[in-house]
Amino acid sequence: MKRFISCILLGMLPIISQAEDHAAHVHGVGQLDIAIEDNKLVIALDGPADNLLGFEHAPKTAQEKATLQEVSRKMQDVRKLFVPNASAGCRLSQQTVQMPEFKASGHSEIEAEYDFVCTAVPQEITLTAWAHFPRYKKMVVNLALPGRQKQLTLLPGQKLSLK
Ligand SMILES: [Zn+2]
Repeated sequence: MKRFISCILLGMLPIISQAEDHAAHVHGVGQLDIAIEDNKLVIALDGPADNLLGFEHAPKTAQEKATLQEVSRKMQDVRKLFVPNASAGCRLSQQTVQMPEFKASGHSEIEAEYDFVCTAVPQEITLTAWAHFPRYKKMVVNLALPGRQKQLTLLPGQKLSLK
């Protein structure tokens, strides 16, 4: 019971403190914050570790340990997650991948950020993540485009239009 209550509290904190920009911890749902400014594109992914790993506790079995390593490796290769349209000439300039800390609450998160420098304004992003991480059922996308912002929801297989 105690564990159940702490899960609810943890889940509610982001809603109270950052209602606008932080999604609740819902398995299967990822949050994408995408910003375009001049020739720069930033893609930040945030959400339950379960979406990528299939578990959120510290790995115990040999299989879980192998999965953690494999996912960590895949996360280092942005092409396994996001591919901007080729004609935009986007090249990865920096990336940060924060693998889970496996908190005692039983829930944990993975965060990653990928920064690109492009030769033209990107028009579209293909989410190769749908194929590599099939546990994703939905991506909630916050788009910050020059002069405007919008939020949209993508379902498995859908591309992200940046127009
Ligand atoms: Zn969880």
